[in-house]
Amino acid sequence: MAKVAFLGLGVMGYPMARHLKAKGHEVTVYNRTAAKAEQWVSENGGRAAKTPREAAEGQEIVFACVGNDDDLRQVTLGPDGAFHGMGKGTIFVDHTTASAEVARELYAAATEKGFAFIDAPVSGGQAGAENGVLTVMCGGDAEIYAKAEPVIMSFARACRLLGSAGSGQLTKMINQICIAGLVQGLAEGIHFGKKAGLDIEAVLEVISKGAAGSWQMENRGKTMNQGKFDFGFAVDWMRKDLSIVLGEARKNGASLPVTALVDQFYADVQKMGGKRWDTSSLIARLDK
Ligand code: NAP
Repeated sequence: MAKVAFLGLGVMGYPMARHLKAKGHEVTVYNRTAAKAEQWVSENGGRAAKTPREAAEGQEIVFACVGNDDDLRQVTLGPDGAFHGMGKGTIFVDHTTASAEVARELYAAATEKGFAFIDAPVSGGQAGAENGVLTVMCGGDAEIYAKAEPVIMSFARACRLLGSAGSGQLTKMINQICIAGLVQGLAEGIHFGKKAGLDIEAVLEVISKGAAGSWQMENRGKTMNQGKFDFGFAVDWMRKDLSIVLGEARKNGASLPVTALVDQFYADVQKMGGKRWDTSSLIARLDK
């Protein structure tokens, strides 16, 4: 069993840290809003630290899951950041969805200080975190990854090293590219079916068994048809992720015309008041 810390007890981090504790690891938590860390300790045991630095001191592995690049820099390199408390030979595992650039920057900073860094964004949403069945995409060094993987598996059903620092974030970008275009296609299909006067539930039931079937169709098709958008991953978060994707594509020369367009469609949804709606709400701008 390992001595670990978890920084950032949000929608994702709170249950992820709970799974670490449930698997028998010794867990210290830190959250910017201290009340949430105290609540976590009252529910799960363990210890709450006042700063990321204090949380990191004396740990073997430190996990983080905060908002974006700037938040991540703050909890790692900031005045009371975790990187000032990490011991030699320890591992920092970051589950934030962030840029490949910040992953490489933090990998270099960690190496200079004598510890390791793995970028490890996740997929599977709130339900995946609650149920401990996330998919984790990692970038970093193989021998370090081998030590971290069994601990990461406390809250995951799949975890894989995809290459050097930043490769986990690049893989998550591909994940989001694949989702964006697909959800728009699904939205257009359902919208078309309504205009054609068909029974959408019956349509989805039959076509989901064929080549058009997808996770999104299985899990979101029915609720998209009902105009219900309260299922986790928010439009604001998706726009953050797509901005990371489009920034990376500008650098590596990839052509992402559909992703860029769907990003603008999500901007429309934000203007309709859908910032916190889930990503299946693309259909709302067609049905309005
Ligand atoms: P969330 O509920 O908003 O939680 C964010 C957490 O980060 C909170 O604990 C927050 O502290 C902390 N935080 C933010 N900025 C900080 C800063 N500058 N300094 C210190 N702490 C800071 O977000 P989430 O849904 O858990 O998502 C976390 C990450 O996972 C994001 O990168 C997101 O894109 C990614 N992700 C989310 C999902 C999902 O379905 N939600 C799925 C896959 C990936 P406070 O409590 O003080 O605000």
